Amino acid sequence: MICLLTIMGCDKKTERSKEVSTLQKARFPTGEIIDLTHSFSEETIYWVTAKEFEMEEVAKGMTDKGFYYAANNFTTAEHGGTHIDAPIHFSETGQTVDEIPLSNLIGNAIKIDVSENAISNPDYLISIEDFTNWEKEENSKIPDGAIVLLETGFSKLYPNKLKYLGTEERGEEAIKKLHFPGLAPEAAKWLVENRSIHAIGIDTPSIDYGQSQDFESHVILLSKNIPAFENLTNLDKLPSNNFQIIALPMKIKRGSGAPLRIVAIIN
Ligand SMILES: [Zn+2]
Repeated sequence: MICLLTIMGCDKKTERSKEVSTLQKARFPTGEIIDLTHSFSEETIYWVTAKEFEMEEVAKGMTDKGFYYAANNFTTAEHGGTHIDAPIHFSETGQTVDEIPLSNLIGNAIKIDVSENAISNPDYLISIEDFTNWEKEENSKIPDGAIVLLETGFSKLYPNKLKYLGTEERGEEAIKKLHFPGLAPEAAKWLVENRSIHAIGIDTPSIDYGQSQDFESHVILLSKNIPAFENLTNLDKLPSNNFQIIALPMKIKRGSGAPLRIVAIIN
């Protein structure tokens, strides 16, 4: 009897562990992985007032102990290249980058493709209609908890500053010369009032368009603790629905933003 119980117990245990492993497999998305991240280098595009990326070689070569050794130091502003805007960037009480819940950064995603209109118009503003058109085409509302990616096609111009930013100049004076598409404030307002999204991303330097003076879309989204991913790439390789995003920024304590490694997994 003891023996039988033990065997039954054993069987149950094996079954349970089988169940757990199936569950884990079902939960972790499998499929083609697409990198949505620009590499960091001396070509990386930064906001015109931000310090650019620098890398300093510390070691490179054979040591006198007979092994090879390479190491570098790098410096970077938070807001440059593929990066995240933490809510505190434009909202005093918003989350810092280390406080953003992982559930906002990993999950189901959709893509809104406005590249047909945006690529020829560097002042293009993504509108409410762009969202409602997506919903009509997909026959679905933007799902609750979705990470919403906006494809303007501008990543194809990266890292050409003149084409991607609208100017090669830097400093405060260059801000008014910026031209690239972004999200219209009324569309940002519509999103936060009518839909429930976890994060937003775009393939331009900023969620607000280049000509924005007061960064209203940033304020609207970040005030609701919706982080923004900027300077994304490869969005043209994504479908409009049914894929997952993993977006993991460097965990900088009290950071207002950070370099971001972001990938998509297509089911
Ligand atoms: Zn930023």
